Amino acid sequence: MTTAREKIVDGGAMLHPELRAANDPDAILRDGRRLDHAEGASKRLRPPPDPQPEPQPRGAKVHGNRPVDQAEAAARFISAPEHEKMHDERLWDLRQKRDREMHGIPEWEELRSLASAIKEHTLTRLDEYLDQFEANALSNGIHVHWARDGAEHNQIVHAILRDHSGKFLIKSKSMLTEECGFRPYMASVGVEVIETDLGERIQQLDNEDPSHVVVPAVHKLRTDVAQVFSRTIGTDPGNSDVHYLAEAQREATRPLILGADAGMTGCNFAVAETGTVVVCTNEGNADLSANVPKLHIASIGIEKIIPRLEHLAVFIRLLSRSALGSPITQYTSHFRGPRRGGEMHVVLVDNGRSERLGMEEFWTSLKCIRCGACMNTCPVYRRSGGLSYGATYSGPIGLIIDPTFNARKYSNLPFASTLNGSCSNVCPVKINIHEQIYAWRRVLVERHETPVAKRAAMSAAGALLSRPAAYRAAIAAAGTALAHLPQFVIYNGLNAWGKHREVPHPPKQTFHAWHQENRGVKQ
Ligand code: SF4
Repeated sequence: MTTAREKIVDGGAMLHPELRAANDPDAILRDGRRLDHAEGASKRLRPPPDPQPEPQPRGAKVHGNRPVDQAEAAARFISAPEHEKMHDERLWDLRQKRDREMHGIPEWEELRSLASAIKEHTLTRLDEYLDQFEANALSNGIHVHWARDGAEHNQIVHAILRDHSGKFLIKSKSMLTEECGFRPYMASVGVEVIETDLGERIQQLDNEDPSHVVVPAVHKLRTDVAQVFSRTIGTDPGNSDVHYLAEAQREATRPLILGADAGMTGCNFAVAETGTVVVCTNEGNADLSANVPKLHIASIGIEKIIPRLEHLAVFIRLLSRSALGSPITQYTSHFRGPRRGGEMHVVLVDNGRSERLGMEEFWTSLKCIRCGACMNTCPVYRRSGGLSYGATYSGPIGLIIDPTFNARKYSNLPFASTLNGSCSNVCPVKINIHEQIYAWRRVLVERHETPVAKRAAMSAAGALLSRPAAYRAAIAAAGTALAHLPQFVIYNGLNAWGKHREVPHPPKQTFHAWHQENRGVKQ
């Protein structure tokens, strides 16, 4: 009999012969029998797609310390109109669903305030609650490990797997493990990792990072997914029906889940009073990862601690409503100890969080529950796609977290915002996101982490604005200058402003001149 391991070919790609039916490329067969639940759904719902679907724009992955050029990658995304339109509409739809849910809860604002206060209380006593969590987890029979950074986290997990001769790990979605560079590390030590969340698995098969904290493949069109699956698990490249694709992936992944040596989950909330790890998912994949193999490893960022079980209710009411506009996630699983005959480990990871806790202007970003609502509402994120940020975290929350990891590399990100404040308005834990974005701009300028051209332009503007007489003279001259300037001075490749804008015709009279003439005191 073919084992799950033997079905893995070509670096993780799987080819299941039973997925292919001789006369019907849309059908999914097993043991010669067509699966009922796949039958209707596998029919094409629309005419066959354009033979040349729009290619998916590349992101902005940057290795090393070079600043990520988010604007350049965003321009690439915008120039792929099908992707941009779909992304914008899909995320705005989530935002609208979130608003509907919010209006159904009269005490919504009180819940947000309560959640924010619970987080604030916990973060100011984090050491105490972490100790309490550790003591209770140990008494529940859980092994507890502490990791200073991503490298230590990876080494700890590898050591646990080595002790169990584990070579094959299934895992559910975890942004923390993305932060730690977990999959590349595991590949380097010969451990195979399979993502079990559908979106995350799509991204893994496409060798891309997640582009959103909740919906990792939201930037992809169905045709993009069809291409990825046809390359990796042998589906029909012309069939982009979502049911067909999801079913094919389920069929491809199930045997891997059953054959895994260990399962890994992230953690949404770690309850100090009970030593419980709480994971919220919609696909049930975390439950499979935690319960099918005998060995369960949970990776937990230290800011995920909440004091008591009763506090969980506050966050559970906010999380899914803010994230996807649904009242609750399909699964809210509490892991309180190892399964019978099994073993459970938790790895508590710092990776820069303690340092951030000491940053006066940025520590409240640790309240984040990774709902993604700020991303869904952000006009820049919706139109530029998550991969354009070239970082683990994108969108408004990414703009304030990423520079804490590497201020130089992510120095352009805080400028990718209109500062409209919508992110702060939707945040379920009331993080003042747009104010922190603005604060980062100041900090980056003070640290000379902005481009030379921007620094020169800003100091010239500062000099002009601080001298009223010079400013008025410049404004008075601007009308004449604009009328006679050669076009290329404004509309050239170096001036991003001129790429999508027309300079308006200058008014005949400046506001200052009008005010002096009509209302002002003659000087
Ligand atoms: S910052 Fe707020 S809105 Fe954004 S992901 Fe975190 S909790 Fe959600």
